[in-house]
Amino acid sequence: MNRISVAHPKLAGNEKKYVLDCLDTNWISSNGKYIAAFEDAFAKFCGVKHAVAANNGTTALHLALVALNLQPGDEVIIPTVTYIATANAVRYCGAVPVLVDVCADTMNIDPADIERRITPRTRGIIPVHLYGHPADMDALALIAKRHGLWVLEDAAEAHGAEVGGRRVGAIGDCATFSFFGNKIVTTGEGGMVTTNDDELAKRLRLYRGQGVDPERRYWFPVVGYNYRMTNIQAAIGLAQMETVTAALAERQALARLYDEALATLRDALVLPGVRPGMHHVFWMYTVFLREGDEARRDAVMKSLDADGIETRPVFYPMHVLPPYRESNAYPVADEWAQRGINLPTHQFLTPSDVGRIAASLKRALAR
Ligand SMILES: *Cc1c(COP(=O)(O)O)cnc(C)c1O
Repeated sequence: MNRISVAHPKLAGNEKKYVLDCLDTNWISSNGKYIAAFEDAFAKFCGVKHAVAANNGTTALHLALVALNLQPGDEVIIPTVTYIATANAVRYCGAVPVLVDVCADTMNIDPADIERRITPRTRGIIPVHLYGHPADMDALALIAKRHGLWVLEDAAEAHGAEVGGRRVGAIGDCATFSFFGNKIVTTGEGGMVTTNDDELAKRLRLYRGQGVDPERRYWFPVVGYNYRMTNIQAAIGLAQMETVTAALAERQALARLYDEALATLRDALVLPGVRPGMHHVFWMYTVFLREGDEARRDAVMKSLDADGIETRPVFYPMHVLPPYRESNAYPVADEWAQRGINLPTHQFLTPSDVGRIAASLKRALAR
């Protein structure tokens, strides 16, 4: 039987044609027409003024923090449940990621846990729209305003997600995206920073390109980075933007298939919910075993694996990983992360695949 992978990029539009165009015309570096075209298409998609492409989602995060002038010793609030790049980018600036617990229903940063972690050194908050469900941006905006903080959205997993009809990427002071091979929109490796702030956009472009003065070649007023995206990556990205509406619809349809197929397992599984007014884009359809079942999680995943179905555990919280370990308790993260499983979520899954996954889960849970 075919193995079902957890993620699988779909490159069924103009990706090949545009990449061949790069090769045929010799525009293979970070100069070339596809960069600006991809940036424009992505800005339009988010409903934001500026989009600045980077070579991956981690450098996009670092670039955004540099442009926001994050300094050594500064503190940045992040959720303890995220992919490690969020914490690492803060550390690259010599700043301190300050961890906050998450909400059980979305695994996103818990606004109620933020204020006790704010100090005079706090500069900003990085909410992560985990697995495609947006963070509570309204509550975060109020806290940020009260304390004079910026909000940087880590939207790496949430292309097209919405809060009150506004797309992520256009809500915080700026936002970053990833286009890694397993993300909703991919360029193989790639990233983007979006913002409505003209001055910030200028700084993003300056620091992305080694800090070179836009008016004077080989004159460098600051220490910058080479975080540029190649024309080849952008060519793939532009083709992806031409089909993104269909891609998002296919993920919605898949989530509905899972909801139906797993409905009879509700005694044993918590299925993903969506908060009112929010649009979840299901980068990963994530289920949780019931309370007290954390010790069974890995056995359930193993059982699926034996049936040819790849899954992933929910991220380990940052506070249990060696670089960020602390003894503070994060009760929701501690309890829920160990019970979470990401099911296969991609555009090639058929109703029969979903049936096979549901049947395998049912057998695993009955053991
Ligand atoms: C994927 C991801 C990143 C990093 O993106 P890369 O392109 O892999 O560098 C950052 N944050 C989150 C939440 C991610 O899922």
